[in-house]
Amino acid sequence: MSFKDLSKTQPAVAAVLQRSLANQRLAHALLFSGDGIEDMELAARELAKAVNCESPRKDGGCDRCESCRKIDASTPPGGLHPDVQWIRPESKSRRIDIEQMRELEKTLHLKPALGGVKVGILVEADRLVHAAANAFLKTLEEPPDRSLILLLSTEPQQLLETVRSRCQRLQFGASTPREPNPAHAAVVEGLLALLGAGGSVLAAYRLLGVIRAFLDGEKKRIEPEIEQRLQLERYRDVADKEWKEKMEDEMAAQVEAEYRRSRAALVVTMDWLLRDLLMCVQGGDGAKRLFHRDRRDALRGLAAKLTLERALDNLAAIEDLHDQIERNVNESLALEMTLLRLSGLAPARALA
Ligand SMILES: [Zn+2]
Repeated sequence: MSFKDLSKTQPAVAAVLQRSLANQRLAHALLFSGDGIEDMELAARELAKAVNCESPRKDGGCDRCESCRKIDASTPPGGLHPDVQWIRPESKSRRIDIEQMRELEKTLHLKPALGGVKVGILVEADRLVHAAANAFLKTLEEPPDRSLILLLSTEPQQLLETVRSRCQRLQFGASTPREPNPAHAAVVEGLLALLGAGGSVLAAYRLLGVIRAFLDGEKKRIEPEIEQRLQLERYRDVADKEWKEKMEDEMAAQVEAEYRRSRAALVVTMDWLLRDLLMCVQGGDGAKRLFHRDRRDALRGLAAKLTLERALDNLAAIEDLHDQIERNVNESLALEMTLLRLSGLAPARALA
């Protein structure tokens, strides 16, 4: 599934892009900013696939057609798909210069060679020299028909304001954590207990309770935080009904996005534990490579009793859970089935 990998690390961004695609409301120029260029490149590639796919799905490119395959093969360093151009800083100067931009402009103004949409992707767009940026403004303001321009930057403040203001901004969240989130400790504990219990309904439901408690706590935490961030109370007496409704929608959307982000992060923590377990089963449990290093002994103990097939199915169960909650399958039901499957009590691929 397209956007699948992106939705693991950047669920909010993936959701926004998919919604824009579904509503055909994608801006012609987008600025991706955040602290990890890899996620932004992944998003750019998925977007390029989605707009050029020969049999697009509701949620993105098909990953199978000639166009999708050419785009997948073109990063890095770029070149296989004639309508998708990746621009990166020159290796010596670390700059994107005016020659590179002229080349891009030429491509953008041609007809798409494969009949789709021409996509120009500027990786580390903040390395654009000012003269080149200025020359590019007109194209940004009035992008040619059937074209899409993506600027990727970890330092968007370095871009000219005139460039920034012509793009729709999309902020990426922090990328994969370096160490387990302490707030997830009880869930990790419960998951280890479940895996060690060998088919215990009690352990499955105990863990379900722990996960529910965590998610309920997140719901309670998030709403006041977002309300404060939007400073809605300042406008409580504003009479403009339409404006108020708009702000309420904005608030609801941000609460939902933050909840999804938090929930996805929890699933990623569980995912990493099962990856660690698989690594231990395969005998590659070098302490440095484990994400949950502090659980090494427990993981080794479990691995000794587990078959490779089972370890793989555990991982597949978590990946399925990730898909299900992204697709808005009933959250509680999806969690319950996944935990029963992890305990060996539900058939593989129960909800798939
Ligand atoms: Zn395709």
